[in-house]
Amino acid sequence: MIKKNNKIQLKDLSLLELRDFFISIGEPKYRAEQLFNWLYNHIVFDGNEIKNFPKALREKINEECELKTLELVNRQTSSITNTQKFLFSTKDNKKIESVLIPDKDRNTLCISTQVGCPLDCKFCATGVMGFKRNLTSGEIVDQYLLTAKEIGKEKITNIVFMGMGEPLLNFENTIRAVEIFTHELTKGLSRKKITVSTAGIPHKIIELADRNLRIKLAFSLHSAFEDIRSKIMPINKKYSLKENLDALKYYAKKTKTRITFEYVMLKDINDRPDDIKALKKLCSQLPSKINVIPFNSIKHINPTGISAELDSTPYNKIKDFVEHLRKENLTVFIRDTQGDDIAAACGQLAIKHNS
Ligand code: SAH
Repeated sequence: MIKKNNKIQLKDLSLLELRDFFISIGEPKYRAEQLFNWLYNHIVFDGNEIKNFPKALREKINEECELKTLELVNRQTSSITNTQKFLFSTKDNKKIESVLIPDKDRNTLCISTQVGCPLDCKFCATGVMGFKRNLTSGEIVDQYLLTAKEIGKEKITNIVFMGMGEPLLNFENTIRAVEIFTHELTKGLSRKKITVSTAGIPHKIIELADRNLRIKLAFSLHSAFEDIRSKIMPINKKYSLKENLDALKYYAKKTKTRITFEYVMLKDINDRPDDIKALKKLCSQLPSKINVIPFNSIKHINPTGISAELDSTPYNKIKDFVEHLRKENLTVFIRDTQGDDIAAACGQLAIKHNS
């Protein structure tokens, strides 16, 4: 059982583990279902609010357990779009961010899985800030719960694991969080509304397929050429595109879903005619679509090296690029930049004051 400050973190526990916990303190195991309902449907953060628990049990829970893993410390809204950024503090005073992106009938919450990130992708602010630690499953889930509570009636309709960190390098905690979000006892989300995004850890992609969660998978492609991808994403030197493609084909087949390829448009790096040909060849191998993403500046973190030299492909050229891909019969979407003014856009999440 996971204890911090000698307290049990109830949100790190699965339903089965909660049953064991209640049995261990001499309570009937149905308390687990009751607690589940309070934590994930009523969204309570205080044992006193668990109305159908006897007073003594409520007190015991408050003394020995924790129901809240994060504190909301700041909420910012973009003045250009309605994107909102939520800054949370962990118990050990690490800072993480989630971003809420409203779009027509959707309200997508982009959540983090790590404090910082070990992958050092050259276009990403989080990568440049380095890696601090994995988030617990409770901390992943609480980003959703605290945001849901904060926004009240507006509902979160989709979750994307595209915030800080590499979800597949925090595999078990990411899966635990997905299991809570999609649990039949929670009013959470359907599997189709959850997307995990990865820079590419092939054996974990295969394991994710085998776990049978059937959530959607996005792959941060950014170049269809091994050498260019290695330059902008050092992880490619360890796990090649070729290995990842084999794993992605397996994932698509096993889960009967199509893979989303994310493609950040970087001037003169991945926006040439040769890139169109290479993308055509690559995407034709498996059910897939491409999300073309204008590069969001990361100048606010004063990057060095190749990161400092990156520019976005001009918007009219992005449109031409997309038209060419569509002529090749590929399914392509352009993801609009959201929340650039509050550094909440893709790849801009980085917090300087993390110790
Ligand atoms: N580690 C995971 C999830 C985090 S990145 C992954 O690599 O997929 C989530 C998304 O943000 C990825 O598609 C990534 O390509 C995109 N992204 C990162 N930096 C960006 C930037 N500066 N501008 C636009 N998109 C960016």
